[in-house]
Amino acid sequence: MDSILDEAPCGFLSFTDDGTIQAVNETLLGMLDRPRAEVEGAHVETLLTSGAKLFYHTHLFPLLKMQERLNEVYLSLRTGEDEDLNCLVNGRRTERAGRTVNDLVLVPFEERNQYEDEILQAKQAAEQANRAKDKFLSTVSHELKTPISTIKSLSQYLGMGVQGEVSEGQTDYLQRIESAADYLGTLIDDMLDFARLEAGAVEVTLGPVRVTDVLTRAESLVEVRVREAGLAYEPASCPSDLSVRADPDRLQQILLNLLTNAIKFTPAGGTVAVSVESGEDDVCIHVRDTGRGISEAEQEHIFDPFVQGQPSEPEQGTGVGLGLAISQDLTEAMGGTLTVESQEGEGATFTITLPRSEASHDA
Ligand code: ADP
Repeated sequence: MDSILDEAPCGFLSFTDDGTIQAVNETLLGMLDRPRAEVEGAHVETLLTSGAKLFYHTHLFPLLKMQERLNEVYLSLRTGEDEDLNCLVNGRRTERAGRTVNDLVLVPFEERNQYEDEILQAKQAAEQANRAKDKFLSTVSHELKTPISTIKSLSQYLGMGVQGEVSEGQTDYLQRIESAADYLGTLIDDMLDFARLEAGAVEVTLGPVRVTDVLTRAESLVEVRVREAGLAYEPASCPSDLSVRADPDRLQQILLNLLTNAIKFTPAGGTVAVSVESGEDDVCIHVRDTGRGISEAEQEHIFDPFVQGQPSEPEQGTGVGLGLAISQDLTEAMGGTLTVESQEGEGATFTITLPRSEASHDA
């Protein structure tokens, strides 16, 4: 036996078609804890566990004969100490010195098994931690919502003068308390939504949705904010019968998210515009703004949860970086995509693409 083969860090075995072992390297003899004289000239079977003997006759040898090679087959060998030695086997059938031989390379995989077990355990632990996190998030969010609605309703009562007359200054404070409570409520809703999406617990009900209906509703909801922010608004022109296959409430939520961001990240004097493009199979809804834009580096991460860009003054303290992550997950759950095109300093265009629907609807 060639000394390189003898020292190779894997077992080697060669046998003829009648199963007689012609050659074996030192590494395999060491792995099996058997002397050369006992192995050479013996039948391959003598090295195998009883299960492996059967496998050898029904699968291993027939496969090797038919395909002339074997790739990554598991085989249990029996050591001289009568212990199992599990190996990963690669094989090749070849002609040597005028006869057909079957060469096998054997690598023990006890360690590999151990690594696989460790990976599996780590994966299970991560999944469990994720479930625990979702449950925690959702419980905490619920617990937070109750006191917030108390704060909101009590400050409204005070503002109405239920407990006595309120001064102008007090009314101003009460309104600020209310809008802070509203803001907290929105954040909590986002977190709840996200926790549900992560847990795969969000269901979308798909049906034909008239694009113009969703746009009109979303536009009426942001109208005041657009005006207050000193922005111009360009509404979409869209055929009244154009429909997409979507969940109307979820589509509304996504649009509102995009419009709110467009308003938030565009300084006064800028423009927010919505446009619609219909293809044969899809419909694209673009939400464009002339605001600060998003750098290429930022674009890679803005759809990740809890990611926010550098805040500039008017945006301070708004959002937690969940809006786009939720919007993208929801769009994908409806079979669509949400993408962005932008250049820093030159505004941004977010595009929702959804499958077109030809079906009629009652709305
Ligand atoms: P949030 O608005 O709560 O920060 P989002 O997930 O909605 O979270 O957005 C993530 C980040 O993406 C924002 O913090 C901002 O940096 C960037 N971004 C989103 N929309 C726009 C936009 N229209 N123009 C510029 N930047 C935007």
